[in-house]
Amino acid sequence: MPSETSGEKATAPGERSFDRAPVPVTARPFRVTLGLVATTGVASQYVPSLVALGQWLPVRAVPAELCRWRGPRNSPHVALTFDDGPDPEGTPRVLDALDELGLRATFFVLGERALDTRDLVEEIALRGHQLGTHGHQHARHLLRSPAWVRRDLERSRAAMAALGHPARWFRPPYGQATGATLVVARSMGLRTVLWSAWGREWTPSSPQDVAARVAKRLRPGAIVLLHDSDRFGPPGMWRVIVDALPLIADEVRRSGLSAVTLDELVARP
Ligand SMILES: [Zn+2]
Repeated sequence: MPSETSGEKATAPGERSFDRAPVPVTARPFRVTLGLVATTGVASQYVPSLVALGQWLPVRAVPAELCRWRGPRNSPHVALTFDDGPDPEGTPRVLDALDELGLRATFFVLGERALDTRDLVEEIALRGHQLGTHGHQHARHLLRSPAWVRRDLERSRAAMAALGHPARWFRPPYGQATGATLVVARSMGLRTVLWSAWGREWTPSSPQDVAARVAKRLRPGAIVLLHDSDRFGPPGMWRVIVDALPLIADEVRRSGLSAVTLDELVARP
């Protein structure tokens, strides 16, 4: 017996129901494709790229020439790296802290910011640190075309060259390195680098939290991701790093390691 509450009507075999318009067969693949594109777009916003998942999973099968997560496992060094600067507030404080602690590091600067803060770029180099590029704009590569990635890297490389500090290392924003990112960077002579340890200071964290996260993965050859700017994170993110640096320096020393630039970390003896 047909039920009124179910909203369905009994249909005799062979009889068509006109309650719902039938979906044309040709529209189905289109809808499926549209759904797939939308899902991929949303997922790429919220799910780290497969390459960035190498942070947690043993899927680091990409050759070191295309992408690096760490230095040699028998290295007596680690590399501290700072992203998102130069920052008129954060960078000078981080530089002072590094000086006090006798640490050297690598700064991944954004091309568009570096051109506006030339004195800071100079200061980073003068204090013995290395400069790399974090791209020209801080954009997610998963949503960009290979042509866009190439243009962005060309602009950032030109900016660094104009500032007198040609970049050899490239860290993709958000750690989103697609296949196109890796190939384009390689073709331009840039070495892509991610990280093997991080402070996750963009989450609510105390300096002790940040230092503990770094310490957990601090091994010979580690590459540590930190930030000297809060432009893409919560306000004051760099202050947490300044306060965490003495604790991280202690941990580096306790492990019998020393903090050097990326070039020094990967240099063959
Ligand atoms: Zn960044």
